Amino acid sequence: MHDEAWRDRAACRDMNVELFYSTDEAVMRTALLVCEGCPVRQPCFSAAMAERESFGVWGGTVEAQRRRVFRREQRSRRQAARVDAA
Ligand code: SF4
Repeated sequence: MHDEAWRDRAACRDMNVELFYSTDEAVMRTALLVCEGCPVRQPCFSAAMAERESFGVWGGTVEAQRRRVFRREQRSRRQAARVDAA
């Protein structure tokens, strides 16, 4: 079970959630600006990565950025597994 207490301190807590799920680039930039000043950016990002959130702005990132981080982590895990097997 994840600790969800960080959500109580989210800068977006009382905002319209649609701001964070828009595909319009200008709207996404506005959401990212809110994230910049958010005190729980890191746990929000970690939760999005753990849940593989496919849509929306989370922890100051858009989906494509999270996908890149995930692929990088997968590559690192594969390399570590190869080293362990050698
Ligand atoms: S980092 Fe962004 S999406 Fe996450 S809680 Fe903060 S404002 Fe909301």
